[in-house]
Amino acid sequence: AGLDASTRELIGRRERALGGAYRLFYREPLEFVRGRGTKLYTADSVEYLDAYNNVPSVGHAHPRVTEAIATQAALLNTHTRYLHGAVVDYAERLLATLPPAIGHVMLTCTGSEANDLALKVARDATGHSGAIVTRYAYHGVTLAAGALSPSLVGEEAVEPWVRLVPPPHPDPVAFIDGVRAAIAELDDAGYGVAALFVDTIFASDGVIPGDFLTPAVDLVHAAGGMFIADEVQAGFGRLGHGMWGFDRHRIVPDAVTFGKPAGNGMPIAGFAAVDAVIDGFGSRQRYFNTFGGTPVSVAAANAVLDVLADEGLIGNAQRTGDLLEERLRSLADESPAIGDVRAAGLYLGIDIVDADGRPDEARAIDIVNGMRDRRVLLAASGERNHTLKVRPPLPFDAADVERFTSALAETIAATDR
Ligand code: PMP
Repeated sequence: AGLDASTRELIGRRERALGGAYRLFYREPLEFVRGRGTKLYTADSVEYLDAYNNVPSVGHAHPRVTEAIATQAALLNTHTRYLHGAVVDYAERLLATLPPAIGHVMLTCTGSEANDLALKVARDATGHSGAIVTRYAYHGVTLAAGALSPSLVGEEAVEPWVRLVPPPHPDPVAFIDGVRAAIAELDDAGYGVAALFVDTIFASDGVIPGDFLTPAVDLVHAAGGMFIADEVQAGFGRLGHGMWGFDRHRIVPDAVTFGKPAGNGMPIAGFAAVDAVIDGFGSRQRYFNTFGGTPVSVAAANAVLDVLADEGLIGNAQRTGDLLEERLRSLADESPAIGDVRAAGLYLGIDIVDADGRPDEARAIDIVNGMRDRRVLLAASGERNHTLKVRPPLPFDAADVERFTSALAETIAATDR
């Protein structure tokens, strides 16, 4: 409708060149040319508030990160089979944030590769081949990570060695019972359980913060499997409570995968695990990933750790996340369209419901697009796609919270039917 000719032309060229596998956000897709902090700008300098992007985690175009990238790019960027001090520094710094039992980290470029590697290593370590994931999980796009992603391939299309369990919301007991049943089924089918993969904020299951994983992890351990915390969404301080999402669950995972926020947009991700697991794998197999931890990616990743600490962004995630949660709860009191609000730091889920309290996917989509028209970015997720997913860059501040909540109040009023 409101699209100008040049945007329509770009969309057409994109479809012709890239084909039909992609989806753009919004009925009227957006094109940004620059960003700074929590803001994005179009070519004619219209400003949007970014409440969605967790990759530029320490803020769009953070000067310290861009400088680290530029400086390193002007010196050297190679594959990863020469000695390079910065990559070892990075590994040591990252391991210092993880539980002491997790003593090795292997670098990849994407979260998908990290989960693919995690499955490969878990199979090597356990001698089992099965995997358990939640029903709407997303763990990546490679053949193996895609097999762990019913939200990508469809629930019907999951591989026979994968079992789906109900997400722990609304019923945490159904999750535990599901894990118990899945273990029994995988054992009966001869696969056994190599790993339970859990996104520790359950982003694609509708954002489920909490502290309920211990019994499931105990069951998996008793069955000889590993618990793998997928920290691609929750990691690097977003939940406002230390570096990692599993901290909230008070568990020590056997392995951790991470990605998205690690390089603030540079492709760096990885897999960390207890020493014996990675050493066993390394005694039987080799691993080489051309771009996994190049000097430029690692320069960005080290700068991200510096900025997280120096700017106190984990504390900010907690404080600003709490403020946003409080504002959303007051809005929910006035507005029957908001059902449950779930929050952990700067990861929030807002359920959009109809007059009877049932998921209202159509209205959630209208709200996402209405927020776009009010120049605020977010998206929807979950079983019925009725949960607004809010996960801004971590420097999100109190003024951003007010701008976000007033845009949401307006949009809810405008979508009232
Ligand atoms: N795990 C989770 C929980 C994710 O959200 C994603 C990406 N959305 C991935 C893994 C895959 O990461 P990537 O897109 O970098 O391959």
